[in-house]
Amino acid sequence: MRMARSIIAVWVLLWLSPPVDAAVTAQRHMVAAGHPLAAQAGREILRKGGTAVDAAIAVQAVLGLVEPQSSGIGGGAFLLHWDQASRQTTAYDGRETAPASVTPDLFLNPDGQPMGFRDAFTGGRSVGVPGVIAMLALAHERHGKLPWAELFAPAIKLSEEGFPVSARLRLMIGAMPKLSSFAQARAVYFTPGEPPQAVAAGAILRNPDYAQSLRMIASGGPRAFYTGPLAQAMVEAVAAQGGGLSLDDLAGYQAKQRSPVCAPYRGYKVCGMPPPTSGGVTVLQILGLLENFEMPSLAPDSVVALHLLAQASRLAFADRGLYLADSDIVDVPVKGLTSPRYLARRAQRMTIGRMDSAPALAGRPVRHAGIDYAPNVDGALPSTTHVSIIDGQGNAISMTSSVEAPFGSHVMAGGFILNNQLTDFSFAPQIDGRPVANAVAPHKRPLSSMAPTLVFDKAGALYASLGSPGGTRIIGYVAQTLVGLLDWNLDMQAAIDLPRLIDRNGPLELEAGTTLEALAPRFTALGHRVEMQPTFSGIQGIRVIAGKLEGGADKRREGVVLGD
Ligand code: GLU
Repeated sequence: MRMARSIIAVWVLLWLSPPVDAAVTAQRHMVAAGHPLAAQAGREILRKGGTAVDAAIAVQAVLGLVEPQSSGIGGGAFLLHWDQASRQTTAYDGRETAPASVTPDLFLNPDGQPMGFRDAFTGGRSVGVPGVIAMLALAHERHGKLPWAELFAPAIKLSEEGFPVSARLRLMIGAMPKLSSFAQARAVYFTPGEPPQAVAAGAILRNPDYAQSLRMIASGGPRAFYTGPLAQAMVEAVAAQGGGLSLDDLAGYQAKQRSPVCAPYRGYKVCGMPPPTSGGVTVLQILGLLENFEMPSLAPDSVVALHLLAQASRLAFADRGLYLADSDIVDVPVKGLTSPRYLARRAQRMTIGRMDSAPALAGRPVRHAGIDYAPNVDGALPSTTHVSIIDGQGNAISMTSSVEAPFGSHVMAGGFILNNQLTDFSFAPQIDGRPVANAVAPHKRPLSSMAPTLVFDKAGALYASLGSPGGTRIIGYVAQTLVGLLDWNLDMQAAIDLPRLIDRNGPLELEAGTTLEALAPRFTALGHRVEMQPTFSGIQGIRVIAGKLEGGADKRREGVVLGD
């Protein structure tokens, strides 16, 4: 009887567990993006002979329509580009900047205490100067092939003809209680009448204002976004909600070309985005710490392997909190933080036995002559999106793009959402008399966690492109996926599917409803404070394997992989 019951239980479990789908493969080109319609637009451009950057522009324009809760032209992004002909990796920074008018007390209440995140993120106060269009234009100048104007055609068509609202878009509209109190957002995402009802999943949503904005940008280039009627509309919309974005802020915005941060891992070279995101440096720190342990000989569900991953993450987050900020304004010891010698020294704090449960303290990567900083305090709600593309010539992009919280500041202009990225600054400019490196300042870029990543094999050939949304958890999602790919040789989909484990130098978050739940007592015994958490990673990635492209998309959101 007992036996029969357990056989039935196993059968039910097998029946209930989602099918293990193989990674998608292709020969010529591939796009992995957070929404099927965006991926289709990217593939359409690749089929026309467009480059990875051309396709990324088409994908981003569509994402701003169909996944407006996550990214759009009113937000910011980071893009890593691999140029197959010159064998060079370039980092493009389209992060928002703080308007000239901001002061260090931007997010302080009159009593000098930091505002609550939920009070701060909606409205004009949190809007930074959007960087996506300037960044894409800069990348297109260098790596584009098809005419700029052509790349907006799929998004313009979809905005005018409409698209079916996805389950996740419906969910996110319903999850943001203040969204309907913003007039433009109400007009686009709610049905007319009282009380406002979120548009239904499956309903056809049109956004003619967005189509009109895209037409202006398509024909006028980035100038049509940063000056003229669109700029005016953004400034007025932000001012009406109490913010200080100016025409000069917009006209003066500059996307930046930067050098990627790269470090070896198990014979591969892993490249990420430098500051103002912490993503690249912190992911490389986690890997650099793990390099000191025999991870490849451990299984993906080994408690020892996951215990090491969690401790590496704790140490890396301790450094992140103290040192990382906009390196154009603050001195960030990027080289010291990612140096294998420093990380080997720091890895001595890791153990396969019971760890010290107290939060890790930051290390001293170099003799820091500069300021004695206080650790940054993060607060964010997850949104954001990731796109990976490899084109027919072997060029690749890895782009993570964001309006910060779901639907950003909720303020809209020209049919698109304006970001609330300034909430990625530390709300308190100083703590206990010590300055915070990531404090608010005019023209400064708030610290990000976005971690678009490219990996190269031993011969220097492109091996993988990946990244994820998820706020500060992005770092853990990307690091764990890289360990899956590089230590355990999982295929892209299997690495993305790994049950997630995150430690941001606080509790150990285990993905609820996965095999990790059963391991919780063992992590507790090793000194972790365990929490079960639902997980909303949205990893997209492509791997080059035996001359073929193999893609994966995170089933926890709506991403897909398309290729030919
Ligand atoms: N604003 C965050 C960042 O730049 C991303 C938010 C998210 O992924 O939800 O790191």
